[in-house]
Amino acid sequence: MTLEQQLAEVVLEQDLLVGDAVKARPAAWDVAGPCQADAVIRPRSTEQVAKVLRLCSAAGRPVVTQGGLTGLVKGSVALAGEVVLSLERMNQIEEIDTTSRTITVQAGATLESVQQAAESAGLKYPVDLGGRAQCTIGGNVATNAGGNHVIRYGMTRAQVLGIEAVLADGTIVSDLSKMLKNNAGYDFKQYFIGSEGTLGVVTRVVLRLQPRPQSVNTCFAALNAFDDVLQLLSAVQDGLGPTLSAFEVLWPEFYELTTTAPSEHQPPLDHGFPYYVILEAHGGDPKKDGERFRDVLGDCMERDLIEDSVLATTPAERARIWGFRDAVEHMNRLGPIYTFDVSLGIADMEAYVAEIKEKVSDRWPNGTVVVFGHLGDGNLHVIVGVGERGTEVREAVEACVYEPLAARRGSVSAEHGVGLEKQSHLHITRGPNELELMRRIKQALDPQNLLNPGRVLPPA
Ligand SMILES: Cc1cc2nc3c(=O)[nH]c(=O)nc-3n(C[C@H](O)[C@H](O)[C@H](O)COP(=O)(O)OP(=O)(O)OC[C@H]3O[C@@H](n4cnc5c(N)ncnc54)[C@H](O)[C@@H]3O)c2cc1C
Repeated sequence: MTLEQQLAEVVLEQDLLVGDAVKARPAAWDVAGPCQADAVIRPRSTEQVAKVLRLCSAAGRPVVTQGGLTGLVKGSVALAGEVVLSLERMNQIEEIDTTSRTITVQAGATLESVQQAAESAGLKYPVDLGGRAQCTIGGNVATNAGGNHVIRYGMTRAQVLGIEAVLADGTIVSDLSKMLKNNAGYDFKQYFIGSEGTLGVVTRVVLRLQPRPQSVNTCFAALNAFDDVLQLLSAVQDGLGPTLSAFEVLWPEFYELTTTAPSEHQPPLDHGFPYYVILEAHGGDPKKDGERFRDVLGDCMERDLIEDSVLATTPAERARIWGFRDAVEHMNRLGPIYTFDVSLGIADMEAYVAEIKEKVSDRWPNGTVVVFGHLGDGNLHVIVGVGERGTEVREAVEACVYEPLAARRGSVSAEHGVGLEKQSHLHITRGPNELELMRRIKQALDPQNLLNPGRVLPPA
């Protein structure tokens, strides 16, 4: 029997796709063309996932796990010869426990469905990012997704209390505990968080929920200098304390692209300022929080840190501000683009961005560098468009971005992961002993190298 015939015995007929049905699926959110895998299997339970992996393991066939395909480093893009294991049929919210403030979900549940379920129970699941409607909790866990509110609530890792996962050989390891404290030996859930599907398939997750904010105050501000951005960050960290829930910075190229036709978004402030900041506070006392927010910002205006600003006083106004922040699809108007997700010391960012721009314009006088990101977390997204593509061009653009980053001891991946895209640059951030330790962990959990092979770890 072929592997495909054996797999057909594990799942319902409609849950195994081969041939044209595989080609009808997209490769990924940001990769044109069809899925290249030999087969796509869509189990409905952890036991089915275990059987699939047991069969693939016996056949020595590589498996690529797919969630919502919104990953930005090609980790879930399947190649010929590989079997796709999609979690799309395992999308149930299993339980909301309002006493322990947890939600237990299957890994294929979308982030948005988890946010909505938490909301309907009067609580909040605090991870939020632009791909919320498609990306899954399994994908978020596998990439340790960050997003817009890390400064307040932490990354996905900080939300995970329990995990159930299946190892390459089909072994199910299940710790769906709701406990915040559990020092009974190795905390194995951490192996699966951020390891991009290379160590196991996450099937179910217990997540922490937070109190739903009673007040959300949002401000969009224009600033004249990077030093003002740093002083503003410091002032709102002091003034708003733990309620500070977002501090996003948009360089002008980003703001202009996302708020100029054909974009549907209108600019709430004039174009032409060197920096724009979205800052937001989530609190528990609507009256006092609003006053406090306005007082802290008023002080910043008196200190001339802010040139112009608008406050969002309704959910619709808030959505308008986050709308253009999340409208990253407009970057494609630059033509072929190269995207980066780096982190480095906040104080180094101005010089770092200036150096990238200088390097790019030395070689491509009409090249464009667009920068935006979660500055409060030390995380910048850098988009470079130089009007051409190709291996040599990509390597030259990468050198423009990564050489100045290496000099500042930054990370080549703040939140998107490594996937197939960043392996050759991993050495900038990880030393030889760290890479060797990663290889040993991979060898211990997946000795046949069948789960997402070739992703994350560079060839030895
Ligand atoms: C518009 C937009 C905005 C974004 N903004 C952000 C942002 O602000 N912050 C951020 O961190 N990311 C962001 N992303 C990236 C992306 O949404 C995240 O990486 C997300 O966590 C991927 O989830 P997914 O379900 O789409 O995973 P996929 O793309 O399907 O897979 C991503 C990786 O996880 C693995 N994987 C998926 N499911 C599982 C599972 N159940 N078990 C084991 N491995 C699995 C895959 O093999 C792959 O390596 C954005 C993407 C888009 C399109």
